[in-house]
Amino acid sequence: MRIPLVAGNWKMFMTVAEGRHFVSELVPGLEAISTVERVLCPPFTALMAVRALLEGTSIELGAQDVHWEASGAYTGEVSPLMVLELCSHVIIGHSERRTYFWETDEIVNRKVRAALHHGLIPIVCVGETLMEHETGRTSEVVTRQLKVGLAELGLGAPSLEDEALAQGEGNSLVIAYEPVWAIGTGQPATGEGANEVIAEIIRPTLAEMYGEQLAQQVRVLYGGSVNAGNAAEFFSQPEIDGALVGGASLKVDEFVSIAQAAAR
Ligand code: PEP
Repeated sequence: MRIPLVAGNWKMFMTVAEGRHFVSELVPGLEAISTVERVLCPPFTALMAVRALLEGTSIELGAQDVHWEASGAYTGEVSPLMVLELCSHVIIGHSERRTYFWETDEIVNRKVRAALHHGLIPIVCVGETLMEHETGRTSEVVTRQLKVGLAELGLGAPSLEDEALAQGEGNSLVIAYEPVWAIGTGQPATGEGANEVIAEIIRPTLAEMYGEQLAQQVRVLYGGSVNAGNAAEFFSQPEIDGALVGGASLKVDEFVSIAQAAAR
């Protein structure tokens, strides 16, 4: 039984003041939806203020990126230890980081391993570009992103027979299938199309890497132009366990409606 998860990626939006105002309006509606795990991912600068407002709620906090070293001379970067002071989750390998900041699958892998090592839950984004989609390369691209990005995580060890421990492992990682052509374009994938990629590419690759049990436990979200109007189509699919939401996570009513749809 995978608990639905809805995460809001604020991207580079919201000053601290705007974030405070937004979260104070968002919390009452979002807090009522306790059967869905809800994660807010503001910019680094707003994390502390949002953390304070989420105190005493069951809403969790995530960062949008992290460096792989615990500390060091890396001007402008934020380490997993620093993120862990405020957050439970961290988005890694978002397509905007891959496109604008040249993040490779190898860099994604370093970040994922560092996040897990320090006890952060990575939300690892994978997905093909429009050209890759149109030329039938989705399987090749997503498989490569998973095989390299999630290499050597030390999960699914055969000695891990204890059910509770194994369940904990399944919750230590979240995958977001985000076709690049659907992000911020208003052109989402279809529920069936996204479900097929997860069922035929993502879970089998996870199973090959870390065993069938882990592959069935890991939550796989869909992301790409999810809104209040189309969320139910995605959540009705058996392999889609929630959503990573960009634009619509910046609107109180939209984001609450999406979380409500996940609860159904
Ligand atoms: C995202 O930023 O991960 C995303 C899916 O954005 P949007 O919902 O705006 O397409």
